[in-house]
Amino acid sequence: MSDYPHLLAPLDLGFATLQNRVLMGSMHTGLEDKASDYDKLAAYFAERAHGGVGLIVTGGIAPSIRGWLKPFSGRLSMPWHVARHRKVTQAVHAEGGKVCVQILHAGRYAYHPLSVAPSRIKSPITPFTPSALSARAVESTIGDFVNSAKLAQDAGYDGVEVMGSEGYLINQFLVERTNRRDDDWGGTPEKRRRFAVEIVRRTRAAVGANFIIIYRVSMLDLVEQGQSWEQVVALAKEIEAAGATLINTGVGWHEARVPTIVTSVPRGAFTWVTRKLRGEVKVPLITTNRINMPDVAEAILARGDADMVSMARPLLADAHWVAKARAGKAASINTCIACNQACLDHVFENKRASCLVNPRACHETELTIAPAAQKKRIAVVGAGPAGLACATTLGERGHAVVLFDAAADIGGQFNMAKRIPGKEEFFETLRYFRTRLGETGVELRLATRVDATALQREGFDEIVFATGVHPRKPAIPGVDHRKVVSYYDVLASNRPVGARVALIGAGGIGFDMAEFLTQAHPSPSTDIARWSEEWGVDTGYAAPGGLAKPRPEPAERQVWLLQRTPGKPGEKLNKTTGWVHRAALKAKNVTMLAGVSYERIDDAGLHIRIGERSEVLPADSVVLCAGQESNRSDYDAALALGLKAHVIGGADVAAELDAKRAIAQGTRLAASL
Ligand code: FAD
Ligand code: NAP
Ligand code: SF4
Repeated sequence: MSDYPHLLAPLDLGFATLQNRVLMGSMHTGLEDKASDYDKLAAYFAERAHGGVGLIVTGGIAPSIRGWLKPFSGRLSMPWHVARHRKVTQAVHAEGGKVCVQILHAGRYAYHPLSVAPSRIKSPITPFTPSALSARAVESTIGDFVNSAKLAQDAGYDGVEVMGSEGYLINQFLVERTNRRDDDWGGTPEKRRRFAVEIVRRTRAAVGANFIIIYRVSMLDLVEQGQSWEQVVALAKEIEAAGATLINTGVGWHEARVPTIVTSVPRGAFTWVTRKLRGEVKVPLITTNRINMPDVAEAILARGDADMVSMARPLLADAHWVAKARAGKAASINTCIACNQACLDHVFENKRASCLVNPRACHETELTIAPAAQKKRIAVVGAGPAGLACATTLGERGHAVVLFDAAADIGGQFNMAKRIPGKEEFFETLRYFRTRLGETGVELRLATRVDATALQREGFDEIVFATGVHPRKPAIPGVDHRKVVSYYDVLASNRPVGARVALIGAGGIGFDMAEFLTQAHPSPSTDIARWSEEWGVDTGYAAPGGLAKPRPEPAERQVWLLQRTPGKPGEKLNKTTGWVHRAALKAKNVTMLAGVSYERIDDAGLHIRIGERSEVLPADSVVLCAGQESNRSDYDAALALGLKAHVIGGADVAAELDAKRAIAQGTRLAASL
């Protein structure tokens, strides 16, 4: 008997059976855009099919040039596009999987001047004002979707997903916010729905009965003038009648100011909306957003919120997610921590996606972990993210590995990161590595600080230094005052801080510290009701779009967050998550000051100057979050002794160090030794 009977139950679609209830949701990787990358894309999907996922949906592919997300992005509109897609379908089918292509027309979210929309209304997140589609152009755009679906069928896809949510073109037709037409395609809710319904109806007529059509309904727009619940229900019914096989859930337009997928969103925070639709239609419903572990997915399905779960990033993090759940090895799953750092952030920076916890994602043909030709005895010093990734990959390749850490537990700085409200997922990475150390036979020696001489005595063939960083102590007069502590003292040693706190440094750690000091513990990220109230998500769905007035919980402390550089604090935070951190701190009335000079710290507080103005911040505590410096003296000593040594992670370069670099560097070095 499986631990996950609902999750692993097959789903009979009448003309095809899915082997389980896991849909790999659509996600751009950057490999969709160039024909020359389709071998890599095929390998990426084949590995997920091999890992047992029930149904894969590709990243969004445009049905026309005007539908492009950005110039020259992936398109399926011409017969010669079919061959590259066949590589994907053949690779997935060879592994026993099923795959649909997502047809996505960006509408006014397009990043190019040819963009079109129901009405000429610019989006707040793109620089281009779209042209309004003429009635003739609306008809030809529907034809583009149908043509794309027919080509998908020629390419061997098992079906298509029609992207109707997230604020893209079809979604733009559905609401007055973006559709001010008074012809057959606007003016009333019925007419605004026609575009979506006609796409599905005409696609079904063109592809026949035995082809999957998933339609992604925007069940919760999370923008003003969004759809009412009654309109969502009416749309779903018409989409079903038009011939959809499955209805997927969409949550939040890209311009919404409510986070929907970042790590501080509670797990399964939006499945209630899919459940609300149950009983209104007969086709199976797929739910989504922040579902990342089998027990979460199983509970959602067992309580009847949906018939299937969609996960995109968790399958990037671990291609074998389903196989591990089936084998009762959930503890071996490399969990997606919803950081967006290597997936969505990359896509927004026009870089190929990967995964912070799994650098092989989207690099399956390039980063291979092969058995070592010559087995060696290797020491890894430091069990932070860099050392853990390196040691486990070396172990997987068959080397005899000893992993040392001076601390009593593995994890390095992740032990501090996991204490930040909204970063609870970091616990999962440490659980994964703990399991993986056992599986790969790494010998772990905790509470053992080693130096070059001790390592030399043991006669290792190679030594990897992953000794990390230590906090920088800036040369500010009074920095040794009793009210000054470092972030390390607070997060690792539980040093108490007062009610009024000044933070020196507004980088990633300064922001995290501000959240740690102002948020209640446990944080709303662990409680859907509290979190929804805090961000203004109305689970009662009284108003269109499902928005309510945000009701942030009161701040636990008064906090000033400071930086010397002029400009907006937090500007360098990650692209897709920085705005959430800034909004969260604004809601807690954190005062953010830039262009600050630190004059001194004394009993009165922190004395600063901004331009000509001097000020004393009456802080009870001053917390240093002023960056870090590398711990590389052991590495240097090993080199001086003539040992074969390598250095990775923060010990290599402390500046702009993050876990993505640490894990990737550790994995890549281990793959090469
Ligand atoms: P470390 O994590 O510093 O690990 C080094 C290890 O080496 C330590 O365990 C130490 O005990 C051990 N060690 C040192 N010297 C010796 C010795 N001589 N003998 C034995 N053991 C030794 N990064 C992100 O990408 N995203 C985030 O959201 C994020 N949030 C963060 C939040 C906080 C609060 C903090 C503090 C950090 C955060 N980071 C984040 C940064 C991330 O944790 C670091 O980039 C990462 O931990 C660096 O990994 P590392 O393995 O190089 O070093
Ligand atoms: P950081 O991002 O480099 O920020 C350091 C801060 O300290 C800056 O605000 C800097 O601003 C200030 N500073 C630097 N030198 C100083 C000095 N001598 N005196 C006073 N202030 C000084 O480093 P971090 O915040 O320590 O974070 C470390 C790494 O962890 C980051 O690179 C980040 O990628 C990662 N991290 C990521 C996240 C995430 O959510 N993705 C979260 C936490 C950490 P000024 O120079 O302008 O004063
Ligand atoms: Fe998940 Fe982060 Fe990996 Fe993206 S980069 S898949 S959010 S763990």
